[in-house]
Amino acid sequence: MHKGSCLCGAVEYKITGPLGPIMFCHCSRCRKASGSAFNSVSPIPAASFRIIKGEESLRSYRADTGVVRVFCGTCGSPIIGKRDDLPDTVRLRIGTLDTPAGAKGAAHIFVGSKAPWDEILDDLPQHQERP
Ligand SMILES: [Zn+2]
Ligand SMILES: [Zn+2]
Repeated sequence: MHKGSCLCGAVEYKITGPLGPIMFCHCSRCRKASGSAFNSVSPIPAASFRIIKGEESLRSYRADTGVVRVFCGTCGSPIIGKRDDLPDTVRLRIGTLDTPAGAKGAAHIFVGSKAPWDEILDDLPQHQERP
């Protein structure tokens, strides 16, 4: 089982079951949402993800792409993303995990739109978009 929380501690979640592969998404939306070079996400079954504290602190942003980003309304930590066309999966923002992820990153995705100031220096597979 995994546990995680936001920066201010208002929101806590748990995950029953394993994480999916850890992906580093370099798309322009993830860069905006994370304020960084890429977003570190792991797809997990929605049924295994549960908010155990601070549900009322969560806010969400729905983009016209059908992607909903859920974050703490107090500290802004991104928690999960969801897609309308994949309702059974949530994309965990693994930087909020408090327990060891148990795996290394698996791949870089959307490197076709990565920031020009970002240099990928590892040997992980790189996909121009979503594989
Ligand atoms: Zn918070
Ligand atoms: Zn992305």
